[in-house]
Amino acid sequence: MADPAKNVHISNRARETNTYDVIVVGSGISGGWAAKEFAEKGFKTLLLERGRNVEHVKDYPTASLNPWEFDHRLVNPEKEKTENPVQSTVYDESNKHFFVSDKDHPYIQNDPFHWIRGYQVGGRSLMWGRQCYRWSDLDFEANAKDGVGVDWPIRYKDIEPWYTYVERFVGISGSCEGLPHLPDGDFLPPMAMNALELRFKDEIKKKFPDRLVTIARLANLSRGWNGRGPCQYRNLCSRGCPFGGYFSSNSATIPVAMATGNLTLRPFSIVAEVLYDKENRQAKGVRVVDTETKESIEFFAKVIFLNASTIASAAILLQSKSDAFPEGMGNGSGQLGRNLMDHHFRIGAEAQYEGLMDQYYVGRRPGGIYIPRFRNVNEATKRKDYIRGFGIQADAERRSWYDTVKHTEGFGKDFKEQLISPGIWTMWMGAWGETLPYEENKVTLDENKTDKWGIPLVKIDFSFRDNEKAMRKDMKESAMEMLHEAGLKNVTGFDYSSVGGDCVHEMGTARMGHDPKTSVLNKWNQLHEVKNVFITDGSCMTSSACQNPSLTYMALTARACDFAVSEMKKGSLG
Ligand SMILES: Cc1cc2nc3c(=O)[nH]c(=O)nc-3n(C[C@H](O)[C@H](O)[C@H](O)COP(=O)(O)OP(=O)(O)OC[C@H]3O[C@@H](n4cnc5c(N)ncnc54)[C@H](O)[C@@H]3O)c2cc1C
Ligand code: SF4
Repeated sequence: MADPAKNVHISNRARETNTYDVIVVGSGISGGWAAKEFAEKGFKTLLLERGRNVEHVKDYPTASLNPWEFDHRLVNPEKEKTENPVQSTVYDESNKHFFVSDKDHPYIQNDPFHWIRGYQVGGRSLMWGRQCYRWSDLDFEANAKDGVGVDWPIRYKDIEPWYTYVERFVGISGSCEGLPHLPDGDFLPPMAMNALELRFKDEIKKKFPDRLVTIARLANLSRGWNGRGPCQYRNLCSRGCPFGGYFSSNSATIPVAMATGNLTLRPFSIVAEVLYDKENRQAKGVRVVDTETKESIEFFAKVIFLNASTIASAAILLQSKSDAFPEGMGNGSGQLGRNLMDHHFRIGAEAQYEGLMDQYYVGRRPGGIYIPRFRNVNEATKRKDYIRGFGIQADAERRSWYDTVKHTEGFGKDFKEQLISPGIWTMWMGAWGETLPYEENKVTLDENKTDKWGIPLVKIDFSFRDNEKAMRKDMKESAMEMLHEAGLKNVTGFDYSSVGGDCVHEMGTARMGHDPKTSVLNKWNQLHEVKNVFITDGSCMTSSACQNPSLTYMALTARACDFAVSEMKKGSLG
């Protein structure tokens, strides 16, 4: 399709002023890291972000508001759900401003898929749940062992030092447990478990010797760290934290990159395509649409890092068509956009506990407890009905007045006392399951439908298959069984069913692999076919494991930046 914007004349002077060492596309969790790494190493870095700027603290308007200060007391009204059917499944009144409007940012769901997005400086690092777990060789070897998808071109030993490197900057509270398939990290002190969680941990140890209950590993600072925090135990993180108590691009990576004087941050800049220099057989820059002026502008650099997130980075490359790449840049394998994965979840069990009525806890801890994967870990835990596994997030709490009031009638002193007394102990467990890479789960472009900036709409095909369905049955039954065996009462299983995207762990659309015929990226996250373009967001993931993935994006990003720097010094890039 002819695009008049591509014919915009760029003067030589514009080329000079628009030239950097490195361009990073997207300022979320992974892009913030790329910007920090290059700026700290002395490279002039341009960070392009399609959304508005969000400045740490200044732009957190709801951070300290009380529930009664919101028009609808934090409940989304029906109108909101109708107007924003996808994003409103995740936000409420307190953090709505960090999510996109479905109307302004359409995409096509060939199958139901919730593409949850935050278009602003910081991306979804502002609203993420901050659960951080390392992956292990159980994950990196899985595809090769099971004959699924393609083999990861890296193993745990390749990424291990980079996990440590990013953890030391991020600040992750957690407890070392010595579990080979959930490797320990470089942790800040763990947050405390409450009385019922401790009792549950003991009971699980007795009844299920192959299972472990640990405190969640969280990018929330249990003590002051790198000039941020500590966390104040308010559990209002997704509004932005005025104390810098959790890791976001806005609180952590971008300020460090800015302080070097090497970073130029350009918000309101949609990267529409990566520009290819046929003679050098490398990328020369990117074309940006300014969202405010709709002007088309080109920027140039030796190295380009795509960190626009899994679906958006694939879309940018699919849009980057040329004689050399008629199906999109780096898509010689035909795998670009394919193998889209997301974890499946919203399934588990809840129960009540009789006792411990003299126990309470301090503050509102911003995370719970974690039960690492215990299925298909070794021969003894092998399942006949599915491969891979799931981890369980859980927490225990005492019912609050808010719940009590729903079940309490009366008036006077007794009624008041009931309202201000904490209720009984309850426990909730939810499982997060691995999804296999399926070629048919994919992102493509609809060339005939464009958004208001003239960019083709993304189309998504996605479904969970038999392996995920069989796993789900076990996820619910295992949660119920553990609650029951730990002595809780009124155990109820739940399955709210999840469609793709609900878990916001999209991965896989430009997978890493050994072979350019079957994968898009090599072991350094470089496009096999265009060596100065790197992708280090979730697109690069070759399988999905069951652990939350963002820590792995960060570690892969730092590793790829280090490699790119050494290649640039050798003069082999750009
Ligand atoms: C409610 C919630 C809870 C979550 N909990 C966890 C958790 O506990 N643990 C975990 O590991 N992960 C969690 N996640 C997922 C986590 O947020 C993502 O994995 C992570 O943010 C992905 O990082 P990224 O850099 O790939 O993308 P993002 O953080 O989404 O950043 C991408 C950036 O690119 C920009 N962009 C997009 N397209 C373009 C373009 N064409 N041009 C220029 N800029 C562009 C976007 O505006 C955005 O700023 C959660 C997410 C949500 C929403
Ligand atoms: S719980 Fe901690 S990190 Fe979250 S908003 Fe409160 S102080 Fe900040």
